[in-house]
Amino acid sequence: MAFDKTVDLLVVGSGAGGLVAALRAARHGARVLVIEKGALWGGTSATSGGGIWIPGSKLAAAAGHPDDLDEAFAYIRALTAPNVTDAQIRAYVDNASRMLEWVGRAADVEYVSLPYPDYYPETPGSREGWRTHLPTTVHASRMDRAAFDTMQRASPAASLWGRINWLFSETNAALFRPKGWWKTIGKVMLGYWFDWPQRFKSPRDRRLTLGTALLGWLRIAYDEAGGELWLQSPLVSLIEENGRVIGAVVRHEGRELRVGAEKGVILAAGGFERNADLRRRYLPAAPEPTASGSQINNEGDALVEAQRHGAAVRNLDSAWWAPTFRIPGEPRARLSTVERALPYSIIVNQAGRRYANEALAYHRFGEVMMAEDRPDAHTDPSWLVFDSRYRARYPAGPVIPGIPDALLSRGVKQVLVKAPTIAKLAERMKLSPAALEETVARFNRMVRDGHDEDFGRGDAAYDRLYGDPRVAPNPALGTVEKAPFYAIPIHLGDIGTNGGLVTDERARVLREGGEAIPGLYAVGNVAASVMGYSYPGAGATLGPAMTFGYLAAADACRINAED
Ligand SMILES: Cc1cc2nc3c(=O)[nH]c(=O)nc-3n(C[C@H](O)[C@H](O)[C@H](O)COP(=O)(O)OP(=O)(O)OC[C@H]3O[C@@H](n4cnc5c(N)ncnc54)[C@H](O)[C@@H]3O)c2cc1C
Repeated sequence: MAFDKTVDLLVVGSGAGGLVAALRAARHGARVLVIEKGALWGGTSATSGGGIWIPGSKLAAAAGHPDDLDEAFAYIRALTAPNVTDAQIRAYVDNASRMLEWVGRAADVEYVSLPYPDYYPETPGSREGWRTHLPTTVHASRMDRAAFDTMQRASPAASLWGRINWLFSETNAALFRPKGWWKTIGKVMLGYWFDWPQRFKSPRDRRLTLGTALLGWLRIAYDEAGGELWLQSPLVSLIEENGRVIGAVVRHEGRELRVGAEKGVILAAGGFERNADLRRRYLPAAPEPTASGSQINNEGDALVEAQRHGAAVRNLDSAWWAPTFRIPGEPRARLSTVERALPYSIIVNQAGRRYANEALAYHRFGEVMMAEDRPDAHTDPSWLVFDSRYRARYPAGPVIPGIPDALLSRGVKQVLVKAPTIAKLAERMKLSPAALEETVARFNRMVRDGHDEDFGRGDAAYDRLYGDPRVAPNPALGTVEKAPFYAIPIHLGDIGTNGGLVTDERARVLREGGEAIPGLYAVGNVAASVMGYSYPGAGATLGPAMTFGYLAAADACRINAED
């Protein structure tokens, strides 16, 4: 068959799963082409926290917290969907730490293991930390300039004023001002301002952190290994011959090119969270693409195309759910993580009542928003209600301490509500003043008594992780009582879908009967997640995306497990 170009491995999508696969193959001498639909590469992965959930890592053991892979298996098995096979879970649990070590060697990515508790502490096999790992920083001066310029931007929550990239330890220093905090912040600021070559050119920070650091490390290594990456080059269709996928039609520079892939095609094109039709069909609770915090190109193209070639799908009604802020004029919803665990705030539904432990992990909070939605008490939107102490100290999405109300953006002013009393605030939110007053009074009484009897906010280690350590006895609890009062809507949203193509333990795409489609692989959110409908811990989306990317490349290019 005639091709315009022939490679060994064609990777569709340039997020973390796709780049790990591409790098692994390129380092073993394969001719690799990554095609990216957007003008920017890196996907939602680059805008993410870059955290990966890796059971049994050597880093955790070295920090004095050895893990047990059988416990990790049991934890996932208990949480995931019945249609996820034991073999898939085992493949993940057994290979996640191998992938982490390999990525460390191949791309110099340094990860640190964190005391970040799993999201379901009540489930056997969970741990109070050390499975979540975060990448260290990398300076973009090490990158090809064009690659840096075309990299997907960090999420607004991961950068100060949308410019200066942060690590979590640095945001904590700024927010909670522990001893020596100013040294940490001073170093970040000086590093930014003294990067003269860049300051003369652009406000963008070259110190990459979190998701941009992970993708930065991967891209540097991929370029060094001689891999190719085409931007604005979407997958149009897969080419199949005698039941085997042998390449794809790719739109590139105004033409449709036939690209042959002798060893395989790896689909790593993200979920379908930006496809309005698919959302309406499968995610009716949050049908608008703007409900997603994902970048805008993940429209499920590869999912639909693989289905045309007989691929089976599962759990399409599933997403990585999250409470989000939606600011008019912004293309993506903003994920709410820290806000809900900070004192001097509560979340109420449209009846003015609390309905959950606000500090729950985001996916779990999203699930409660769906479960608790009632005709007389809708939860979408809910409201984050906070007082003036919260306003002065902590962020509420884009409402940042230190920025006066008058200087907030027009979009933020459209949604933020402020009033001198709780009753007036409720009137402006179009809620019952009596109900909101009663809710706040009850919450304040429980805070003074030291325990949230209704929902146990602040009881779990995870709740306290994002609380204010200066607030005692419970860092996640503080009364809502100092005027003026504020409220901002909290919507049901997601950070990507996670139902998709059925794959096996080697990331091969399967047909309905369980037989693999030769030459076709899927990793990341285009594939149905090994986690089913659950989100076991921070990094449980990128961890599997990268691990199955690592396995897919090995299978396609016949790379030994240890190489
Ligand atoms: C603010 C935020 C923070 C997050 N933090 C974390 C975290 O710390 N840890 C974690 O595990 N998860 C996190 N997530 C979720 C995580 O980012 C995603 O689940 C993950 O990035 C999905 O990876 P992916 O490779 O499947 O998709 P992506 O990274 O989105 O990559 C898919 C790529 O494919 C491209 N593409 C789409 N269609 C085509 C086509 N037809 N042809 C060619 N290319 C195509 C897209 O443009 C995109 O670049 C976070 C998400 C958000 C929004």
